[in-house]
Amino acid sequence: MFILSCFRVKAYILTCSLVFLQTYRRNTMSDLTAKIQKLKKEKNAIILAHNYQRAEIQDIADYVGDSIELSRKAMHEEDAKIIVFCAVDFMAQSAAILNPTKKVLLPTLGARCPMAQMLTTDEIKRAKKKYPGAPVVLYVNTLAEAKAECDVCCTSANVVEVVNSLNSETVLFGPDRNLAKYAAHKTGKKVISIPEHGFCPTHLLFQPEDVTVQKQQHPKAEVMAHPECSMEMQKIADFIGSTSKMCRYAKEADATEFIVGTEDGILHRLRKENPTKRFYLAYEGAVCPNMKLTTLDRLYASLKEEKHIVKVPKNASAKARRSLERMFLVN
Ligand code: SF4
Repeated sequence: MFILSCFRVKAYILTCSLVFLQTYRRNTMSDLTAKIQKLKKEKNAIILAHNYQRAEIQDIADYVGDSIELSRKAMHEEDAKIIVFCAVDFMAQSAAILNPTKKVLLPTLGARCPMAQMLTTDEIKRAKKKYPGAPVVLYVNTLAEAKAECDVCCTSANVVEVVNSLNSETVLFGPDRNLAKYAAHKTGKKVISIPEHGFCPTHLLFQPEDVTVQKQQHPKAEVMAHPECSMEMQKIADFIGSTSKMCRYAKEADATEFIVGTEDGILHRLRKENPTKRFYLAYEGAVCPNMKLTTLDRLYASLKEEKHIVKVPKNASAKARRSLERMFLVN
């Protein structure tokens, strides 16, 4: 009896501590959110958040979307003086390239996309020499210097249209080999990957076995996969598309349950936009650590001190802008 009472007291103390911590965290977050909103108005800033950002960052943002959607939004926000781009390096670079008169801030300096680092300008130059005359298409997930070396950029949403728009049956494509295979499959063209094995470490985590397990628990669920996933994952998907296309598909589809093959941040947006539908991550560990580096504290500090300004060398910026603008002409 005495032991049982002690156990109950311990359980009670533990529950109280957890409630206290949760309340404290909620209050701290709402304090920070209010401070950020106030600063945003004072400084005439807009906050953009990628679909893979933490839920609280998505909730405070003016716009949530994929990288180019966001950069385009910023271009239309003529009055904004500051753009706080909650994402990773190459996305904030694109925003700076497309919005040269605005101050672009990346709240976390170390938020870098490992896939974007996989393609060097030397590698592009070598590939151009090896396949003279073949146009170079680069995924926007590249750094400005690489974009400056290509003919046209693309996103995972418009890759098929961009590759089809080129008057060549052979195309050099970087840095994601899975997106290259997806483009080759959809267009029937020869799409050569540069580098040969560029990949997203987060999307690489998805395996068809994960979907099999999820399917056993949710047999009516449709499978959506990002084209950065392996071909094995793409083959078993009911729908393959970028994050923005996934959001559209989930809204319009008759299905009410979905197994999702992309980074876990997208679930917040999918659930918010479709409160009556259910979404399950194909593999629970699919979290991009770089995307999650942005926290409310860091966002607040960046906006307050106007720190981590994204700067792109002028020459690279002008050439990269041309590659992005050519993409806009296609789609
Ligand atoms: S999810 Fe993949 S492609 Fe996107 S930022 Fe993370 S590592 Fe890069």
